[in-house]
Amino acid sequence: MTVIHRLSDLLINQIAAGEVVERPASVLKEVLENAVDAGARAIEVQLEQGGVRRIRVTDDGCGIGRDDLALALERHATSKIASLDDLEHVGTMGFRGEALAAIAAVARTTITSRADGEAHAWRIDGSDRALAPAALGQGTVVDVADLYYNTPARRKFLKSEGTEYAHCDEMFRRVALARPDIGMQLSHNGRVAHRLPPAAPFARIGALMGDDFLQHAREVAADAGILRLAGFASLPAYSRAGRDAQYFFVNGRFVRDKLLAHAVREAYADILHGSRHPAYVLFLELDPAGVDVNVHPAKIEVRFRESRAVHQFVFHALRRVLAESGAGMAGEATM
Ligand code: ADP
Ligand code: MG
Repeated sequence: MTVIHRLSDLLINQIAAGEVVERPASVLKEVLENAVDAGARAIEVQLEQGGVRRIRVTDDGCGIGRDDLALALERHATSKIASLDDLEHVGTMGFRGEALAAIAAVARTTITSRADGEAHAWRIDGSDRALAPAALGQGTVVDVADLYYNTPARRKFLKSEGTEYAHCDEMFRRVALARPDIGMQLSHNGRVAHRLPPAAPFARIGALMGDDFLQHAREVAADAGILRLAGFASLPAYSRAGRDAQYFFVNGRFVRDKLLAHAVREAYADILHGSRHPAYVLFLELDPAGVDVNVHPAKIEVRFRESRAVHQFVFHALRRVLAESGAGMAGEATM
């Protein structure tokens, strides 16, 4: 006979962390996106030892009130959606209410925050949920230390400090490209790696992709009303051996999507050969109701309602830009 029993909250969160907290970079993604959702104008990231020893993110956003701090660490607790209708029109990066609970289950986590109108800040300790007064200007500091200290099986899968740092750097770049209006800084082991003042999109892309990219890229600006594509895509002369410089954002969210990747590949099909890849930073905007971002906890995959129309739109927009620059030839997409 089997005996069924309920799992403890800690164990439930540790299991869930397997999906949300794959490595330090996934912690950084969640905490950065929370800062963005909080309306931050400036975000500072401090990493130690590739983010394994420490990830600390400071923002000047709306903050979390004293009585909400414990809730912020609860699973399925969020300020971002309240109904199925909200879910279908979600405009924030987060909405599942599970990231902080998962992070706090696998790392020593504290949140210090001062909400609008509060006399001082409060700090909550993720391990025992103890609250204490603290000093901070408006905003939030999330401190995540010793990732997987209590889950040795997962710790074994961490790579070298350099590799984990590279993943964190990549995650930082994605958010920084998506939000040039936010001032962003990243430091690693006390050394500043990126210091990015708020900037126009063009300037932010140059700062992160290099001026060489911009010199060998064309601006993409296509508007079909319900679908809009903006950004920069490289000319064949700038092609790369790897896919390391390919950024596609859908409604401000970095995505890896087969359909979009295919549309881009088709647009470059006759002008880039063999193992060469284009570099691009592209932003697709559409009605949130036309795209489902709730496919996977990390939200890096999306599903389009009108996938064929999206494919055609992206293909033709890129094709036009490449043809105008003399690089491409007119042609039709094959799905
Ligand atoms: P989600 O982002 O999906 O809501 P999280 O677990 O990431 O879930 O965060 C839970 C809640 O904590 C958020 O809904 C938000 O209200 C609050 N929160 C988290 N980080 C911040 C922050 N940096 N500033 C303000 N509020 C925050
Ligand atoms: Mg979140």
